[in-house]
Amino acid sequence: MLSRPQVKARWTVGALSYVEDEPDDVTPPRRRPERPALRGVTLQPSRLRVGVDVPWVTSWTSEPVTGVGPCLTTPGALAVRQSERPGFGRPVYSENHHYRQRLSVLRMLCPMCGRATATGDRWTLTARRRTAGALRAQGLGGALPTTLADSRVLIDAGAIAPLHKACAERSAGQCPHLSADEDLDLRPFAARWLVWPLWVEVDPPPSAPAQDLPPVAAFLQLCGVTDAHDRR
Ligand SMILES: [Zn+2]
Repeated sequence: MLSRPQVKARWTVGALSYVEDEPDDVTPPRRRPERPALRGVTLQPSRLRVGVDVPWVTSWTSEPVTGVGPCLTTPGALAVRQSERPGFGRPVYSENHHYRQRLSVLRMLCPMCGRATATGDRWTLTARRRTAGALRAQGLGGALPTTLADSRVLIDAGAIAPLHKACAERSAGQCPHLSADEDLDLRPFAARWLVWPLWVEVDPPPSAPAQDLPPVAAFLQLCGVTDAHDRR
């Protein structure tokens, strides 16, 4: 495991400002957060239930991005940080929460309910079977071990961790985005997988040499590795 970066510089990343040595936002998935205040306005708890009506991994309007900094989900790299106030304000269904998304992939937490998934109960709805060669041909194979043959069949899950089967079935029926997807395909995830970060570009301050800039991860991506080969 890599050590945390020693970063002393302070800079802005678009609207993001770097945060140094703040404690990680380690919030247990089921904990009900304190009622937050955002720009002086106290946000009311939503009637929608996190993990039931709204996926646990979904962002809420009460959860602004706060900057970039070290994070337990990305050892050796910086990560985009975001407030943790699920269940307050309104859900932003089109946006995953940065930290919860990374945690879901890293710890195999179901993105719907936030609970751990066990071997044998990890399912995907939107993952695509692709060969390692196809990923490499698209320039996405940088994270694949060179020992992995081009013919090896992978399950490209993108940034969506596997769900419990019951949660996947419920999501497919409830979620407008998913139910409109004609390619929805409930299938078991692989027993092995690869994880790599999705990086965001960082603009350093004029005073910071570009070569000193550590990478900044936004989300984690994962790809299941099967034993099958497709040699067509
Ligand atoms: Zn679940």
